[in-house]
Amino acid sequence: MTETMTGYNGKIAYIDLTKKEVVVKPLDPEIAEDYIGGTGLSAKLIYDLLSEDDYKKLKKDPYDSVNPIVYATGPVTGTPRPASGRYSVSGISPLTNHWGEGTSGGFFCINLRKSGYDALVITGKSEKPCYILIENGEIKFKDAAKLWGKGTYETQEAIKDQMKINGLRIACIGPAAENLVRYACIMNDEGRAQGRCGLGAIMGSKKLKAIAIQKHSKITGQNKKAILELRKKIDEEKEQLSQLLPIMQYLYGTNLYMDMGMFAGDVPAYYFTESEFPAEILTEKTIKEHLPVFTSGCAGCTIKCAKHTVIVHNSKEIVTDGPEFETVASYGPLCGLFDREQVALAGHLANIYGFDTISSGVSIAFLIYLVKEKIAIDAIKKSLKDIKLEEIDWGNGDLIIKLIKKIALRDGIGDVIAEGVKRMAEKWGVDPELAAHVKGLEIPMHDPRAYAGQALSYMTACCGANHEKGDWFQTEIFGFEAPEFDIINGDNHDITGREKGVMHLQDLRGIDDSAVVCNFHQPSKVSEIAKYVTYASGYDYTPRKLMQAGERIFNLKRVISCKMGITREDDKLPKHVLKVMSSGKTAGLKLDLEDNLKAYYKHREWDWKTGQPTEAKLKELGIIGEGEDIVTDVKLEVTKEEKAELKKLKGKFVPKLKVKALQWEEVFPYLDFIILMANNEVDFFTEFEVADERILFAVSDLPEKEWSWIRIKHGEFSVGRGMIENPTLRLDFKDKSFLMRLLNQDVNIRRAVLTGRIKVKPLGKARVIANFFGLYMNKIGLKLEF
Ligand code: SF4
Repeated sequence: MTETMTGYNGKIAYIDLTKKEVVVKPLDPEIAEDYIGGTGLSAKLIYDLLSEDDYKKLKKDPYDSVNPIVYATGPVTGTPRPASGRYSVSGISPLTNHWGEGTSGGFFCINLRKSGYDALVITGKSEKPCYILIENGEIKFKDAAKLWGKGTYETQEAIKDQMKINGLRIACIGPAAENLVRYACIMNDEGRAQGRCGLGAIMGSKKLKAIAIQKHSKITGQNKKAILELRKKIDEEKEQLSQLLPIMQYLYGTNLYMDMGMFAGDVPAYYFTESEFPAEILTEKTIKEHLPVFTSGCAGCTIKCAKHTVIVHNSKEIVTDGPEFETVASYGPLCGLFDREQVALAGHLANIYGFDTISSGVSIAFLIYLVKEKIAIDAIKKSLKDIKLEEIDWGNGDLIIKLIKKIALRDGIGDVIAEGVKRMAEKWGVDPELAAHVKGLEIPMHDPRAYAGQALSYMTACCGANHEKGDWFQTEIFGFEAPEFDIINGDNHDITGREKGVMHLQDLRGIDDSAVVCNFHQPSKVSEIAKYVTYASGYDYTPRKLMQAGERIFNLKRVISCKMGITREDDKLPKHVLKVMSSGKTAGLKLDLEDNLKAYYKHREWDWKTGQPTEAKLKELGIIGEGEDIVTDVKLEVTKEEKAELKKLKGKFVPKLKVKALQWEEVFPYLDFIILMANNEVDFFTEFEVADERILFAVSDLPEKEWSWIRIKHGEFSVGRGMIENPTLRLDFKDKSFLMRLLNQDVNIRRAVLTGRIKVKPLGKARVIANFFGLYMNKIGLKLEF
């Protein structure tokens, strides 16, 4: 079987930590085709492995030795497709007691991909701390007694020092997972985290400190030439300008969203009670102005969104990983903290101890909220130990830093916070509706009130409130659309009629996590996503077949969750995050998604009474029985009616934009202009020049007279660079016509004003409140002012 498989190693390693035994089984090609890899393949392996008896044991105790933790890659991992440096981890979450999963970037994924195995299925419990070493494809058990108690960075260093194997990559846990903090994570490549669902704690319960892997196998059968050609084609097409987001991610990392999100009411503050706060203190641009920040990226990624911020702590310089947006937002506004260095330090400590910054930030904010609202004070007092009640206040960075250590060591009140908000409410006898979670997983830093589609996605996502399992906010803001699968942009606050799109986006993200790739950067057409998976796996996926695989994967995860006791009653948001805001972008908004949930259930073919997928659906998908073959693919052309509907939705927001001649690689060096346009309230001095319809920007690192330019004519944009003799017209901000044209939108700007390093020369001061593309500006009601 293995000899005939392409795009895979063709082997699954079943590792029993109790017996210290490894059994290698071939990967069934049919399973590979149906479940792709990553979390999809892991769901199938876990589903086949667990008996009804095992589910009973796990309901009582998710740390039971039968709980498998599965590491996996997919056929696209590590291929020339951009942003394919990712691996997945899956299991029954000790935080939520149902399906749990997550992915992480970096370089460990490449070693796992080339370990000789498509998945490692780890069961049992080691008596003593150990780690797994995979060397030349051989799986060995190593003593980790001396590593137990060490932080995640130190653990990785120590294993590298001990083994002295070139190119060794390590995924490991820290003290938080050893102490069974329910949201403990897994760290690899220093500070890259598989953050959510507490899967690190499963490793802790198994006394498995780390997995260290040397690259060994070669993956055969991938059509690299076709992948490269597809990549080139997509780079050359309009995709690049319609995907300004990756450029912003390169400049600012995920934290580019801090102020943008706030303007949309999407960044929760003060434990989901407010949505307005001084975002400019925490934007990545401001962080970069005050602290040194370096950039890096995962294997083969062209975006490189990872940031490393240098801070000084205890008179020592520390290079922290991140902080990323979710970390900044959860320790920052959510806890009322607006101190950049303390936020970065909190994120860094969480990485060292090894726990999820979202779940911990929400849990800490919950404690502060309860104390400030004088709820359950007597119960909280009993847990306090050496923390004083008066210390518990919004914005107390010292308290947050102190609590992070206490959580990791389960010391005093940290022991309660380490349980997550659902159990905190239970322990202190608090109204459960005040605990900000869905199915036990803390709500991330996208406020459900900002996007109704995001709220519906949280309610129904495969592992609880996780924005990455259906990032509908991206569809609304950044315009990720797939009309042939009902994923269309529209009213932020009304998802009626688009519930099927939410479902399909969840399925699509399930494909990303199975392929396994990063969803920050991908082709915007499902047909092209299908081609990548086809060229990498050797199986022929039409768009519909791929989406059906996504649906199969999503439903299988749901089946596992239902076996763990999840019902329709769990598909809800807590009342706390539905309260009507009195200020901010979502002020006055009342969210009622009952009818939307009904429509979603109808599209999913789930039973409204039980919350389970119907037998007919499971048969159709082949989860039970043989499944139904897809004879013909759906027509992917958008129908006339859909076109009319799209036109109606888009007409207001998205002027047409055509792009020619932009090479992706050429964009990166010339981005300063975007910085000016992307940030709110920027004071700047600039000069640019115009010849005819051609806007010219001086390029400081190129020979004189070489320019990069954008051309705007009859609604068409083209971008390029070259030698320009004698530009005929000079324009500066004293001549406001260009900005006026932007303001009036009589140039067709969607995501434009894209390129060109501006030669900085003080001509005059202009105060610009802008945003980087017209769609977004319209959506959040901003306009250019100067
Ligand atoms: S976009 Fe960021 S997270 Fe995604 S692969 Fe690139 S560097 Fe990694």
